[in-house]
Amino acid sequence: MLGGIAAASAKFWNSVIPETGNPERGAFPMVIATWGPNIKANAAAWEILSKGGYALDAVEAGVRIPEADPSDTSVGYGGFPDRDGHVTLDACIMDEKGMAGSVSFLQHIMHPISLARLVMEKTPHVMLVGDGALKFALEQGFKKEQMLTEVAKKAWEDWKIESKYKPVINVERHDTIGMVAIDSSNRIAGACSTSGAAFKMHGRVGDSPIIGAGMFVDNEVGGAASTGLGEMVLRTLGSFLVVEEMRRGAHPQKAAEIAVKRIVQKYPKQSEEAQVGFIAVDKKGRHGAYAIQKGFNYALYQRNENKVYEAGYFLPDSK
Ligand code: ASP
Repeated sequence: MLGGIAAASAKFWNSVIPETGNPERGAFPMVIATWGPNIKANAAAWEILSKGGYALDAVEAGVRIPEADPSDTSVGYGGFPDRDGHVTLDACIMDEKGMAGSVSFLQHIMHPISLARLVMEKTPHVMLVGDGALKFALEQGFKKEQMLTEVAKKAWEDWKIESKYKPVINVERHDTIGMVAIDSSNRIAGACSTSGAAFKMHGRVGDSPIIGAGMFVDNEVGGAASTGLGEMVLRTLGSFLVVEEMRRGAHPQKAAEIAVKRIVQKYPKQSEEAQVGFIAVDKKGRHGAYAIQKGFNYALYQRNENKVYEAGYFLPDSK
């Protein structure tokens, strides 16, 4: 299928600039999230945004929805464990002032996104990991909880029979929530939370908690977030790239396409087998989304409508 990459490299496939109407009119508040099921997360964020609330509160509230949902097997409670059977969680958050907080390789905590916010607000640091992050959580009054559900345990036990780690495209194993919101006072915030790649090596950290990889916002420009095989986003600092392209004048759709194209051109072989998707929004309230493979969707709540849209994709003959 490498011919597909070569053909695709000649131009952007399935590139459609989303209709955003007059961005100046009624664009705010707005919230966008990776993956269709996160329409529920958007609704929680909207509760805050629609009352004139703060974008940072909105993204935190939104991301807490899949974190507590046991049926979402790639975020928070119910997330699939690593190959040793431990659920390890990653999250990050960023506000309109460019402040950021992040937790990674965190166990036993239901809402990593709220802990990431406290790292940002209550410590002089950006990132806490592992036991240090857990210690901070307990000091802040978080409860230690069992995050491995019976369903996730069973999936891990089934996986152990063959013990083959092969990333699968667009199944629940890759459903990280990345969210960007702009409130009615034009403040931009972003958040991201995941249990990472299912059955990963113990200690593996992906793109999601890394500021600039899994998520990035800059109030002067806009914001972006990613989902999919984190290693490819980490190597290209994907969300930062999207925001920087918007800074240079690209429409959010084009900016997302440039970041995907960068990944495919650098890692053509791996791209055949993997999915990466980006969502992007600029400070005018225009948005975009793009992925390597067909099948990436996103939820947008804007102008009182909360809807799921299919993203464009790079590979012409993707599955
Ligand atoms: N990006 C996440 C990671 O690599 C996984 C995902 O989006 O499904 O950890």
